[in-house]
Amino acid sequence: MADATASVSTPANFPDTIFDLAILGGGPAGYTAAIRAGQYGLKVALIEASDKLGGTCLHWGCIPTKALLFNAELWEHIQHASEFGIDNLGTPTLNWQRVLARKSGITLKHAKGLDFLMKKNKVTVVQGYGRLTGPAADGVHSLTIATSDGATQTLRARNLFLATGSDAKMLPGLKPDDRILTNMEILTLPEPPKSLIVIGAGAVGVEFSSIFRSFGAEVTLLEFLPRVVPVEDADISKELARVFKKRGIDVHTGARVESVQRTDDGVRVAFTDSNGRAQSKDAEKVLIAVGRAPRTAEIGLDKVGIVPDRGFVAVNEWMETAVPGIYAIGDIVAGLPQLAHVGAMAGMVAAARVAGRQARPIRRDRIPACTYTEPQIGSAGLTEEAARAAGHEVKIGKFPFAGNSKATILGSHDGFVKIVADAKFGEILGVHILGPGATEIIAEAVAVMELEATVDELIFTIHAHPTLAEAMLDAYAAVDGMAINA
Ligand code: NAD
Repeated sequence: MADATASVSTPANFPDTIFDLAILGGGPAGYTAAIRAGQYGLKVALIEASDKLGGTCLHWGCIPTKALLFNAELWEHIQHASEFGIDNLGTPTLNWQRVLARKSGITLKHAKGLDFLMKKNKVTVVQGYGRLTGPAADGVHSLTIATSDGATQTLRARNLFLATGSDAKMLPGLKPDDRILTNMEILTLPEPPKSLIVIGAGAVGVEFSSIFRSFGAEVTLLEFLPRVVPVEDADISKELARVFKKRGIDVHTGARVESVQRTDDGVRVAFTDSNGRAQSKDAEKVLIAVGRAPRTAEIGLDKVGIVPDRGFVAVNEWMETAVPGIYAIGDIVAGLPQLAHVGAMAGMVAAARVAGRQARPIRRDRIPACTYTEPQIGSAGLTEEAARAAGHEVKIGKFPFAGNSKATILGSHDGFVKIVADAKFGEILGVHILGPGATEIIAEAVAVMELEATVDELIFTIHAHPTLAEAMLDAYAAVDGMAINA
């Protein structure tokens, strides 16, 4: 073990054991699969290279960033306390070390929780770096596991799940350091930067732009494509860019980064803007948020004949690779978004298959995407553009949060709910929300799409008043031009 709080044990010797399932990687995909397989009564080994379970999501992604976001929201509210009738707060100051300590406390608590869940479900957790060694013999796969003390163990299992996750991509020629940051370095800065340039306006880029703007940084956001959050519905991109600009974020879309250089006391980023003009910006730090690359180069895929495509592994609807008994789940899977909840569900689907239990494949058009900016984004299903491109005749219902009572109470009127519905039968094809509570309300959208609900049914589905979810009811009604509150 690397430290006293570690939750992952060093490997025992397993010469005579054949596990039902061995899982490489203890992030959300791997640990969820391990728990579910344990619940099914399978004999499971979970192999994790680092000294704690939880992966990027728990230690460098979803959880720590949302912890920081909560601090950022509190901080913003405190700045505007008098609007809410709270006076005489004096001059609030940000204790950054306390902010970081709270974040770390949350991740540690959850890592310990995972340790408990592994014991509860009788999962054997092994610390070390696992590699495939060769084709299965009599239906049994082998892995070697290299531990930090230099020892090597062999572990055998009838089924293998590859769940090794992903790393932040860098721009060519750059290496992360104390000024050129990825999602990892930015989480341990000794103090919040006064100025930050963010390259890439996907989820990582817009979330950190939003968080550090709330903490008072001058933020410049550079996106190569013509719009921010390019995978979202075009109306969402437009409205987020508008609100970001209103919040003082300097947003450049269609921007081509030419160089990133260290200066005496910070960084300088040269870029060509959408009008072809050469521009240059200086800041304390730069965050590179241009996507994540699957971590599959070193795990011995070649030994078993799996040929990845730019690192991604192809699977069938049950997450099984071309090699029987070897499955891939999480960020390394080709054709699925790199989201913790998708990885976790992939793990549950694959575990059910291996256990011979009933399972349902993941549907690409039933995945909620949540981006934790201010204001938030929640979306699921087809964008308007994708629905039309797929040949659907669509009707659109759009309802602004300006007409929602709860949004008024919260003082949060930016954004809207947009429904993309099939014109003929009224089936909901997509829901796109920008605004308060978007990441929570989107859960309803996934459920209604899963149940193939129609606009006619939904406009008679009671939503409590006053709630943010009520904006959904108005948006369904808006498909037929009959929103009550707009
Ligand atoms: P991403 O692929 O989502 O976005 C990267 C963005 O960078 C794209 O818009 C791309 O056009 C842009 N880009 C690429 N090269 C560029 C360049 N040279 N100059 C300017 N722009 C450039 O990647 P990400 O934001 O790093 O996130 C990685 C993965 O993690 C994604 O799958 C994302 O969905 C996931 N993630 C999800 C959440 C969430 O669900 N809340 C949060 C963080 C990350």
